[in-house]
Amino acid sequence: MIKRNISMEKQSKLKQILLPVLPLPEQVIFPNMTRPLHVVRERSVNALKHAIEHNSEILMLTMKQVFDNPSIDEFYEVGTVGRILQSLDPKDGSIKVFVNGIIRAKVLKVFSDGDFSRALIELASEKADKDVEIQALMNNVTSTLREYVNTTKKLPPETLEEVEEILSQGDPVLLADTVARYLSPPIADYRDQQEILNMLDLKERLEKIIEVIKYQIQIFGIEKEIDGRIQEQVSKQQKEFYLNEKIKAIQKELGRDAQGLADIEDLKKKIMDAKMSKEAEDKALKELERLEQMPSMSAEASVIRNYIDWLISMPWATITETKIDIDEAERILEEDHYGLAKPKERILEYLAVLKLVEKIKGPILCFIGPPGVGKTSLAKSIARATGRNFIRVSLGGVRDEAEIRGHRRTYIGSMPGRVIQGIRKAKSRNPLFLFDEVDKMSMDFRGDPSAALLEVLDPEQNHTFNDHYLDVDFDLSDVLFITTANYLNAIPPPLRDRMEILELPGYTEYEKQKIAELFLIPKQLKANGLTIETLSISKSAVASIITLYTREAGVRNLEREIASVCRKVAKKVVQAKLDPPKKIHVTAKNIHDYLGIPRFTHGKAEEQDQIGVATGLAYTEMGGDVLSIEVTTMDGTGSLVLTGKLGDIMQESAKAALSYIRSRNNELLFTDVPKDFYSKHDIHVHVPEGAVPKDGPSAGITVATAMVSAFTGKPVRKDIAMTGEITLRGRVLPIGGLKEKVLAALRADITNIIIPRDNEKDLSEIPSEIRKKLSFHLVDNMDKVIELALKR
Ligand code: ADP
Repeated sequence: MIKRNISMEKQSKLKQILLPVLPLPEQVIFPNMTRPLHVVRERSVNALKHAIEHNSEILMLTMKQVFDNPSIDEFYEVGTVGRILQSLDPKDGSIKVFVNGIIRAKVLKVFSDGDFSRALIELASEKADKDVEIQALMNNVTSTLREYVNTTKKLPPETLEEVEEILSQGDPVLLADTVARYLSPPIADYRDQQEILNMLDLKERLEKIIEVIKYQIQIFGIEKEIDGRIQEQVSKQQKEFYLNEKIKAIQKELGRDAQGLADIEDLKKKIMDAKMSKEAEDKALKELERLEQMPSMSAEASVIRNYIDWLISMPWATITETKIDIDEAERILEEDHYGLAKPKERILEYLAVLKLVEKIKGPILCFIGPPGVGKTSLAKSIARATGRNFIRVSLGGVRDEAEIRGHRRTYIGSMPGRVIQGIRKAKSRNPLFLFDEVDKMSMDFRGDPSAALLEVLDPEQNHTFNDHYLDVDFDLSDVLFITTANYLNAIPPPLRDRMEILELPGYTEYEKQKIAELFLIPKQLKANGLTIETLSISKSAVASIITLYTREAGVRNLEREIASVCRKVAKKVVQAKLDPPKKIHVTAKNIHDYLGIPRFTHGKAEEQDQIGVATGLAYTEMGGDVLSIEVTTMDGTGSLVLTGKLGDIMQESAKAALSYIRSRNNELLFTDVPKDFYSKHDIHVHVPEGAVPKDGPSAGITVATAMVSAFTGKPVRKDIAMTGEITLRGRVLPIGGLKEKVLAALRADITNIIIPRDNEKDLSEIPSEIRKKLSFHLVDNMDKVIELALKR
């Protein structure tokens, strides 16, 4: 430490003196302080050199701003007189010196002319009168500094040691200058130091020092707090980064690579784009979250993925623009179908209502009829006419509620039900949805599918249809449902109640012929790459196909046979390699070259009048047909034998017929039958073509006629056929399928038909060209039948 080395005496002598000025940029040098300086500015170098040459002191004066040749205003008003202890001239125009601060001096005047500035100064008198207050301030300075050193650690502990030693020596001026010296930048501002230097009053000076240090402690506290906050933010970011990296590493370990993560992102985007209901979207996102945490190859992940795929692929918001223009609809129905006047009319009425009510609240259309009569094709045309997508789902063989409503996802391999599957395939929320074969559903212990179907079809409930697999509601209220069935009676009654039945009974041969010419042949020619220039199928050929190669109410097999002819012709054309190809004519004569030997012979009328044989008319899935019923008697004990694969109802009606005949014995018959005839004979009823199951009550009068003929030995007229149910008292009840039965009779060359009187109304459905060819006999009791059918 450098002691003050100007005696008080000398100080007073120096009271007003002129000294060269060393301007200091942004730093303050205090008394009792030694400092090395490297001075480069020319005027400053000159000032130092002058002082060295004349062995004089120098005034170190801080500039308010850095100037080359500052005037008095640009200096602070108090500086420190210093002595040069050592100097070194590096010979580059600069100078290095060691200076020692001696005493404060107040500047009176600055002379800026000449090689360097000079100042007229007045030395400060440092009165060091020590009182209690000064001692207290000294203590305070020391303790504040201690706090500063301890909390900030910005000054080395030795600093404190030095200051404490000065405190113990009790020199307040030295203490103040020593502490002030340490407050140099960056610890405190040089302006604060300058302020301390300015203070000639010692108490003020000590107080100022305490203030500066306290301020710095405060600043440090705030800095630390800010630092802590920033640190917290930084470490949070670092933590997130670290965790993300870790997740990636874990997922990689689990077998999900970058691709897997990209897939998840991709799925997420698809979910957001699918325009699902809120419920479905939440569900999908939740499942996606689960999927994210799973190894991508695991079985469960693929289950979840599958589920999400289902949700994504449902047409939540896809709607085709529907239009109902009745004239246009009529045109389309006519364009696609021949005949069917009644169903077409009903469909147009239905569409008209639909147009007026917009949402379908009414009954569901149900097309009933045998296969191939155009049920599906009508529905397709309705879809076309109303601008809806078409989807067909068969319910044949469905016996489990889950097939309609889906399996819960807990089952392995579970899937949505047929309804949701259908909607996905339809790719829109408002398709025409055709449920095929609603009569072929059955019920078992797994629940009743028809109950689930009821819910689907019910406009009050189907806007929130909940499939067990999807597990979220799907709105079916915009779907146009249509159903089909082969038999009305086989439809579960609750379902039947909801339906508006539209019967398509099957085509006459004439209609089939027309359909073939106008629709099926052109369609098949096109499908097989043929034209009317290469192939003609004559009317007679079509008639042969209808009678000899098909047996059906519709035209499905007819179309198949025509397709088969077309394929064979196509092969011929290609093999012949002729350009242009030679036209091929298919007629009734050569049809067997294409289709082989005829597959069917239709039931024919008997060749001659016979005893015990009557011709009945039957209605089967394939349409109408004629069938012979044979009865014979032989010695026996009065038992009734029935053969020919007869169903329960047919057996019962045979028994009823026999009971009726026995009860009316002698009254009814033209020849007496002995009373003991029935107890001494066995009666055998047989219906040929035993391989084909037959059932229904409508053969009742035929069986009775054959029996009477057998018992009395009177023959039955060969040109007559009959249909009708019989009661025990001989009443004849109405039957169904009259049109088909009549067509079959005509095909079999029958000319007279006996029908129940109650069926008279149905005659209007039979095309007049057919009605003209036959005589109809309306009956209401069995007596009349016998009268008409047996030869006297
Ligand atoms: P279904 O659904 O009743 O079993 P489809 O609608 O599948 O019968 O009909 C079978 C085929 O017969 C289809 O190719 C259909 O176009 C045709 N078809 C049926 N009825 C007619 C008709 N009246 N006019 C034209 N083609 C018809």
